[in-house]
Amino acid sequence: MSNNYIKEVLETVKKRNPGESEFYQAVSEIFESLEPAIERHPEFKEAALLERIVEPERQIIFRVSWQDDKGKVHVNRGFRIQFNSALGPYKGGIRFHPSVYIGIIKFLGFEQIFKNSLTGLMMGGGKGGSDFDPKGKSESEIMRFCQSFMNELYRHIGADTDVPAGDIGVGGREVAYMFGQWKKLTKLFNGVLTGKGLDFGGSLGRTEATGYGCVYFCEEMLKKIEDSFDGKTVVISGSGNVAIYACEKAMQLGAKVVAMSDSNGFIYDKDGINLDTVKQIKEVKRERIKGYLNEHKSAKFNGKSSDIWNIDCDIALPCATQNELGKEAAEALVRNKCLAVAEGANMPCTPEAIQVFLNNDILFGPGKAANAGGVATSGLEMAQDSQRLTWSFEEVDEKLHEIMTNIYKTVSRTAEEYGTPDNFVNGANIGGFLKVARAMIAQGLV
Ligand code: NDP
Repeated sequence: MSNNYIKEVLETVKKRNPGESEFYQAVSEIFESLEPAIERHPEFKEAALLERIVEPERQIIFRVSWQDDKGKVHVNRGFRIQFNSALGPYKGGIRFHPSVYIGIIKFLGFEQIFKNSLTGLMMGGGKGGSDFDPKGKSESEIMRFCQSFMNELYRHIGADTDVPAGDIGVGGREVAYMFGQWKKLTKLFNGVLTGKGLDFGGSLGRTEATGYGCVYFCEEMLKKIEDSFDGKTVVISGSGNVAIYACEKAMQLGAKVVAMSDSNGFIYDKDGINLDTVKQIKEVKRERIKGYLNEHKSAKFNGKSSDIWNIDCDIALPCATQNELGKEAAEALVRNKCLAVAEGANMPCTPEAIQVFLNNDILFGPGKAANAGGVATSGLEMAQDSQRLTWSFEEVDEKLHEIMTNIYKTVSRTAEEYGTPDNFVNGANIGGFLKVARAMIAQGLV
């Protein structure tokens, strides 16, 4: 990177946010792409736009105390980063995972700004979470934690100010408990959270949206090489919300998904994964993926999750977590003649891995484009809540499909316009950034 302005701001980010490696990684990745845009638009530097965009508008950190079933008191830390509201109310999920700290929430919040911009809907960027570990907790412990978390969060959010949703460790159950507490505290029944249950303001198709959307995006990429999912072998990491519905859509389009994982390892079923079994294990019993072997004796289990990328496949969909696919894994995919990689998770591929894909002409869909279907459908849920109406599954799915196709078009056109055709990383970063930058300049120094 040769642009001095970008280098200087990046240096400041490092100094101002010590120890926040994921945040720094996310900012560097985006800034790297922005060079041609910054050079073409001198007004951005004049408006100190990069300095402003890397600084969250507001950062809220709070204590979450709760009692376990034995009466023991625990204290966790809660976060909500309201990063950027140039395009609409802050919007982004809540993550419950022991690895959560401010650097993770800021990386996710920063990415969210540009992802939300790409959807074309009115949504700013934000993210929240806690270092609470939901694994092994009872139903009532989960409920008490969610209530305690909302006891502070409710002051800072609202249907027109900040609309959280789920993420890792936060699914329909947790959103419902948080919504119940929001209602109790505020007397408001509105679209303050998305990913709600279908009986109380949720949208049909939201559960499926991120996974389906990722496959829709990948389908558009494949058209570029006049190909499709039909008859392809697919490997998907994770077995949570995103992975399960990416698997479902890939199978509907005629692909065979042969491997899925969790943080304890992966399963390989050469005949194709039985998704009903995975759903039963993960959505109903909330158990480990290894349990798949009890039902399907011919399947194999490997205790090293990251080895999943050594499996021969045409399409790889990393749908688990950040930095789960590194350089060696990318090289293995290249050796196995993989055609396309689309990120269902946020930042699952390391910068080195992405470089390997780009150098070897593998179609690569970055998360902020490929997994934007989740937040886009959250935007559709907000629209339905405001109207007090519900749309059919088909209507939502059709809109999702159209949004993903449009994102692909924006990303692909922008990559071309800025001199790097087929580099969808640059296309997504610049495409998402330009709209936010223009809105920030138009709205003045606020
Ligand atoms: P879930 O909590 O539902 O699932 C996460 C899955 O990933 C679990 O199966 C988990 O296993 C697994 N996992 C975690 N770490 C690893 C690892 N190191 N190796 C292999 N598997 C691992 O989360 P989601 O599916 O909702 O989210 C997945 C990713 O997608 C995240 O990056 C999230 O930010 C992103 N995303 C989610 C959206 C959504 O709508 N849900 C929208 C856009 C992005 P285990 O149970 O062992 O922890």
